[in-house]
Amino acid sequence: MADGTRPAEPMPLSRWLSKNLVLVDGPAAGDLWSAAGAPYLAEIADCLSDDHPCNFVTVRKSQQSGASILALGWCLYVAAMEPANMLYAVPGIEALRDLNSGKLQPLIDAWQKHTGRTVILPQTARSGAGSTTFEKVFAGGRLYLGNANAVMDLSSKTIKKGVRDEYSKWTDIPGYGDPGNLFFGRFTAFRRFKTFKILDISTPELDTGDETGETEGHCRIDRRFKLSDRRFWHCRCPECRQLFVHSDDGLIVDEAHPHRSVYACDCGHHLTESERILAIDEGRWIPTFEDGDHPGFHIDAFVSKMMSYEAIAEDRLAAKTETARKDYTNLVLGLPFKPRGDAPDIEKLMLRREDWMVRGEIPPQGLILVAAADVQMRGIWLEIVAFGANRESWLVDARYLDGDTADHKGEVWESLRKHTIDCEFPDAFGGKRRLDAMAVDSGYRPNTVYAWVRQHQRAHPDTGYDLILATKGQPGWGKPAIGQPKLVDIDLGGRKVKQGAKVWSVGTWPLKADFYSCLRLDGIKSGAPVDPDGYCHFGAWVDEVYFKQLTGDRLEPVKVHGRVAGQRWAQIKDNHFHDCRIYNGAMAEYLGISQITPEQWQDLALRRGMPPELSAPTLFSRTTDHRPAADIADSPHPISSEVDQWPVDVEPRDSGWIGRDTSGWFNR
Ligand SMILES: [Zn+2]
Repeated sequence: MADGTRPAEPMPLSRWLSKNLVLVDGPAAGDLWSAAGAPYLAEIADCLSDDHPCNFVTVRKSQQSGASILALGWCLYVAAMEPANMLYAVPGIEALRDLNSGKLQPLIDAWQKHTGRTVILPQTARSGAGSTTFEKVFAGGRLYLGNANAVMDLSSKTIKKGVRDEYSKWTDIPGYGDPGNLFFGRFTAFRRFKTFKILDISTPELDTGDETGETEGHCRIDRRFKLSDRRFWHCRCPECRQLFVHSDDGLIVDEAHPHRSVYACDCGHHLTESERILAIDEGRWIPTFEDGDHPGFHIDAFVSKMMSYEAIAEDRLAAKTETARKDYTNLVLGLPFKPRGDAPDIEKLMLRREDWMVRGEIPPQGLILVAAADVQMRGIWLEIVAFGANRESWLVDARYLDGDTADHKGEVWESLRKHTIDCEFPDAFGGKRRLDAMAVDSGYRPNTVYAWVRQHQRAHPDTGYDLILATKGQPGWGKPAIGQPKLVDIDLGGRKVKQGAKVWSVGTWPLKADFYSCLRLDGIKSGAPVDPDGYCHFGAWVDEVYFKQLTGDRLEPVKVHGRVAGQRWAQIKDNHFHDCRIYNGAMAEYLGISQITPEQWQDLALRRGMPPELSAPTLFSRTTDHRPAADIADSPHPISSEVDQWPVDVEPRDSGWIGRDTSGWFNR
């Protein structure tokens, strides 16, 4: 019989953790949790006990902060000390499994072994009363684990305590709306007496530039933090004895010797790493926003004892691309990232053109070949781009096909076919290659585009995927580069075909930010030792008109009642080639450029005629992770006839990145 029903002495969470929580990984595995390793955690923990009056606690954090253990430790504490129904939600089914088998269950086992008590019923119980993978049973309540990106079947459950973990990565559930609101809906029974408690905890994501964080796509944890009393851990300078908050500007990085990096206090003193540790231990939380309605805590690498000035300096030095800077901002500084949106300089781009590139030919490392067409009333703009394993890209062709686009059997459409899907492109090894995927923007003449795509559609022999995609751009941050296809009706000269065409949504905003960061990279032509990951190559045949269009968009602030309410991409001049390039980026994602492993690249390279000495898998390992700022949806995609009506048991956009099966490329 479990003895979890024995009345427990009241004890704040921080003290309880130090007597009960046995760490299961990291350098201190096997030891009891201690606040000495992370002094900032004790106050956060104590906000979670019942005797603290708050209903919400927000933690905006960097990686390596030790804060995640608090959320898990709280679950055990609730089971042992303050039994109630509890809901712990993470985004994605993989994250959910990892939460249980990688973290929660080992902690439960280690805790119960340490105390010799069985508070949470074992999973082996057969009566139906025992625990399951996603439901932990204890006297007086249950702990439910849920996937935040799917509709959780909890309608009959009344929940009193909850954790919204990795809250910034929660995505809207089409047809159901905001998952944060769905989650909160389970707490209704306790709202009247304000006896519920919710912990929001996450590393941040995107900053839309909105001061209140209310804009769609703005990082959720930052939005919560802005509503809170915004507590920062103030460290004490060993020299002037003043309290201060670390900021990235204050870190003086020694590029040649990162271990000599120091932090400049306002008093002029330079703190060393050993002084940092003392400064943290002498620190305390101070709220910085009077109107905040709940306790909110910011934790970054500067106050984490698992990090050091040296480690932060190294991370900052490595953050050279826009995506790497986003990671540094999110994961090290614990802050949301605001993408840079000014257009790259055309003159600089003109000077970087490379003489060896031949128009219409695929360069040696260009293993993926994609095309994108921007259809206008009087003609079609076309761009063809080759991508390498490290996202380096080479412009293969760019042209304008003149002619009325109204009839999908018209001359200009024939010309498009000739220059794209019917074309054989010579490669650097004496072979010929065809396109791997092509996007045709359906924004201007949807019906004509659908009809043309329908007429010429074929499955790519290597990928098995559709060769041609009718695409439609979607504004907004937080949209996947390539979304779920949607079936639409088409009109073929008066004959209506129900669900006769497929349209693919393209989340253009993150792709734009990513493309501009690649376009700004310096390569060999500008004196760099190598062409970095993501570098964009252009031949000498490219003219100024092309570059003007390529850089035709920029990010502009959106003002509402005089205050900045966000940033949006705006067209500043003709931007057809810019649009083409963004769709080409989406095609590379459609083909799985972010998920293909070095071994798969090698296989592809050999099959595409690359000499073996150039095809070793190590040559395909990226030096930096370079993905667009937003998640990429799973692909190949299940078809849903109405994107807004998901079947309830389908998990949209679940952990598309990692376990994705790209074998379609190689096994067909
Ligand atoms: Zn000082």
